[in-house]
Amino acid sequence: MNANHANDALVQRAIAGFRDHFDTDPTLGGVAPGRVNLIGEHTDYNDGFVMPLAIERRTVVVGVPNHSPRCRMVALDHDGNMATFMLEGIAPGTTEWVKYPKGVIAQFIDNGHPVPGFDAVVTSDVPLGSGLSSSAALEVATASMIEQLLGIRIDPVHKALWAQKAEHDYANMPCGIMDQFISAMGQRDHALLIDCRDHSTRLVKLVDPDVAVLITNSGVKHNLGDTEYPLRRQQCEEAAATIAKTYPQVKALRDADMKMLAAAKEDLDEVVYRRARHVIGENERTVLAADALDRGDYPEVGRLMYESHAFLRDDYEVSCPELDVLVELARGCDGVFGSRMTGGGFGGCTVTLVKAANLNATVEAIQAGYAEKTGKEAVCFSTRPADGAQSFTLA
Ligand code: ADP
Ligand code: MG
Repeated sequence: MNANHANDALVQRAIAGFRDHFDTDPTLGGVAPGRVNLIGEHTDYNDGFVMPLAIERRTVVVGVPNHSPRCRMVALDHDGNMATFMLEGIAPGTTEWVKYPKGVIAQFIDNGHPVPGFDAVVTSDVPLGSGLSSSAALEVATASMIEQLLGIRIDPVHKALWAQKAEHDYANMPCGIMDQFISAMGQRDHALLIDCRDHSTRLVKLVDPDVAVLITNSGVKHNLGDTEYPLRRQQCEEAAATIAKTYPQVKALRDADMKMLAAAKEDLDEVVYRRARHVIGENERTVLAADALDRGDYPEVGRLMYESHAFLRDDYEVSCPELDVLVELARGCDGVFGSRMTGGGFGGCTVTLVKAANLNATVEAIQAGYAEKTGKEAVCFSTRPADGAQSFTLA
C-alpha cells in the first residue's frame, strides 16, 4: 500500500467509484497531471521550444486485472457509462473518451507489451476541454496504470511519445509532444523547458513563494480548434518549405530566424508569413523566458508573456475576444507581471504570473471585470508546479 496515494482524495473518489461499478476493490493505479504552458505556444509542432509546468489538477485511473480478454472502463466525471472492449483487434471505436485509453493500450501492445484484461475507473479534477490538457492527463495516467499492471516501468520519454501517438492515431488529433511530456516528466517547483526537436528537457526553478501562477478559465470553447489547428500546422510547413528554398538548412520553422523570414516574404502568402512570424518569435521568447525565470527576473518573463499573447492574437489568430478580455483585465491589476492565453486557443484558459500578495485582489478584479464585459463567469485557481505521472499499488 502506498500511503501517499491511498490518502489522496482524488484516488479515494476513484476507489469509491470503482467499488460502485465493479463490486470489488482496485489494486493499482496511475495518476498524471494536467498542465499549463507558461510560454511557447504553437511551437511544439515546429520542432521548437515550450515551457509548461504540471499543475495541481490530475487524472487518476485505478484498476484491477480481470483475467479476461476484454477491458471495462468507466469515466466517473464524464458519462458514467461502462465501456467494454476486446483487447484483440483493438480499434478506436465510437465512444469518444475511450479512444484515449484505447490508443494507449494499443501502443503498449504494438511495442511488445501485451496488456491483460482489466477493469478500471477514471476520475479527474482537470477541467475537460479547457486547454489544460485533460486528454494528455488521461493518456499518461492510463499508461502509468498499465505499467503497474505489467510490473514494468517505461522510459518517460517513450511513455510520452506513446501517449502522443495514441492521441494522433486514436483520437485523430495531430498534437505536438508538449502535453504528454510535461504530464509524464513534470517536477514539483519547476517549469520544464522542452526542446521539441531532440526531446531534451531543462528544469527551470519556479519556487519563489512571492510569485503565483494563476490560471483563469474563460469557460468558452469556440469549436474552431479541430479545423484551425491542422490548418496552422499546414501553414507552418508551407512557410518552412518556402524559406528552405533559399536556406536548405531550414527543416522546420525552428531553424529559421527573422532575417530568413524577411528574405522569403515576397514568396509567402501574407497569412502564412504572419503565422511564421509568430512561431519564429515565439521560439526566441520561450528561450529568453527560461533564462529570465532562472534569474528570477519576473518582469521580463511577464513582458514576454504579454508579447506572446499579442502575436497569438494578431499574427497567429488563435485567440478570441474572451481570452483577450482576460489578458487586458490582468494587465490592469497591481502586481501582475504578465498574462497570456495558454493552450491551443479559441477559448480555454489564460495563465498569469502575479505577485502572491496581489493574487486575491487580481482574482476578484478579473472575475468582476469578466462578468461585466462578457456576462460570463471566469473560474480562477492558482497552482504551484507539480510532479508528473506516477504509478501506484493499492492492495
Ligand atoms: P483538453 O486536453 O484541453 O482538456 P481535449 O479536447 O484535448 O481538451 O480533451 C478532452 C477530451 O478528453 C474529453 O472530451 C474526453 O473525451 C477526454 N477526457 C479527458 N479527461 C477525461 C476524463 N477524466 N474522463 C473522461 N474523458 C476524459
Ligand atoms: Mg488535449
